[in-house]
Amino acid sequence: MDRITHDRDGKLLLKSLTRSELEEWVASLGEKPYRAKQLWRWLYLQRVGSFDEMSDLSRDFRERAAAVARVDVLRCTGTHRASDGTRKLTWETLDGGQIESVLIPTETRNTLCISSQLGCAINCQFCLTAKMGLRGHLSTAEIVDQVVQTRRQFEDEQRISNIVFMGMGEPLHNPENVFPATRILTDSDGLNLSHRKVTVSTSGLVPEIRRLGVETRVRLAVSLNATTDEVRDWVMPINRRYPLAELMGTLRSFPLPKGERITFEYVMLDGVNDSDDDARRIVRLTAQIPCKINLIPFNPHPGTEFRPSPRERVERFRDLLLAKNLHTTIRETRGDDRMAACGQLGKPGPRMPKRADPPQRFRSVVAEAAEGPTSTDDSTR
Ligand code: SF4
Repeated sequence: MDRITHDRDGKLLLKSLTRSELEEWVASLGEKPYRAKQLWRWLYLQRVGSFDEMSDLSRDFRERAAAVARVDVLRCTGTHRASDGTRKLTWETLDGGQIESVLIPTETRNTLCISSQLGCAINCQFCLTAKMGLRGHLSTAEIVDQVVQTRRQFEDEQRISNIVFMGMGEPLHNPENVFPATRILTDSDGLNLSHRKVTVSTSGLVPEIRRLGVETRVRLAVSLNATTDEVRDWVMPINRRYPLAELMGTLRSFPLPKGERITFEYVMLDGVNDSDDDARRIVRLTAQIPCKINLIPFNPHPGTEFRPSPRERVERFRDLLLAKNLHTTIRETRGDDRMAACGQLGKPGPRMPKRADPPQRFRSVVAEAAEGPTSTDDSTR
């Protein structure tokens, strides 16, 4: 996948450029270096949406720039507020696709969950986005613009403190556009997010995890979701390419800054990955990896063949991990009445990717989930 820096009309996407690239572009127009500094501040400190608003730039420069480049790239097509204050924002991309971001307020922070692709190719079996298939990679500008435009809309109410790449898409399947976006988000003269407050979450693309450790300083989260290759091959077919031993070996040598940990996300699926043996295997798998475990109650969506683990099971699982000194939390499910919760982003199209066959011993679990009413056990919310 290549870097995307221009729209279909050949206009440059300014928010696809890192600061040094913007400086080069300004120089190529015959302008002094301070112009790049001004432009950068308008993009990321003032967060204006057009060249017209950049009042300290000469009219001549603004007109020349507007002829060949663009400022905003996304068009906001809706904001929906769930009863718990979570907001789902929908955006039209440059190619007319629809992506989503979710702003999640808590007492201590406001986290924006952003998308990195239109749909996703990874085909995790519990995920609604997977049913879209991959329809395209987002440019750096489309990734960054989710943050810029959300701040523009909600800055006064909810200042964004954390960014997680956990919306639509596998960010490490689009590293050429995601890595520059992390540099722009953390630039101290612009959006100025701490590296510790930006998290890239992956299904486990081993070569790109290695690259992430070398090329960026942001935090890493890994969707684990199973403790044996048999189950992970099914619920996350990417495991057939990068099995657990290879993934965990890579994480053991991931260059973590002092005091930091990798987060393992673990979606709790009733009768599939939530046994006491699974908890014991997590302890073994994560040995020697500074980490924390985030247990995620499964959010059912229409047509899913999975059910959420009962609350007592999730709590027992957590307690087993805590007893082994693994830092473990249960993620509070947010925004589910507006389909803004984890694994609920996107709309499946008519041609869905092929489902993976469950191992023989899980066929009855899947059949029961398909037959019975989907459990929405309120205690998991
Ligand atoms: S969980 Fe993430 S990586 Fe897996 S299919 Fe969904 S969006 Fe893609």
